Amino acid sequence: MTKKVSRKYQATRVEPGKEKIPVSSLVSERYPKVASIVIHLTYHQKASDPVLMIRTVNFFPSSPAIFNLVCMIKDCVDGGLNFKSIIAKMIKKHKKSGSGKIVCSREKDSHAPDHGTIFYEINIAYGRKSN
Ligand SMILES: [Zn+2]
Repeated sequence: MTKKVSRKYQATRVEPGKEKIPVSSLVSERYPKVASIVIHLTYHQKASDPVLMIRTVNFFPSSPAIFNLVCMIKDCVDGGLNFKSIIAKMIKKHKKSGSGKIVCSREKDSHAPDHGTIFYEINIAYGRKSN
């Protein structure tokens, strides 16, 4: 006896730039207890030098849970600052703040420009009580 498989997969056409972010990749789905995540970045040429640039990036429950920020260093192509594991660890431990240095994914590349030092500070607000 053969089972009749007549299921057809209809490819849904998505216009460029109009793709929907899958719900599973939103902050609210991945981390339901999180109300907001704020990443502060401070770029220094050298650790002792004045600040070159300050950035603040906010994530909300409706934001995609992609914590890979564009590097922003001049001439750095496709560089990224990946906070994924840092943020995952903080949320796991229910930490509200953390700081340190972040290294661009391209910095190991010998052709990458001088990145100086990038410090980060992360603040996480938790909106729902943990059980
Ligand atoms: Zn970079």
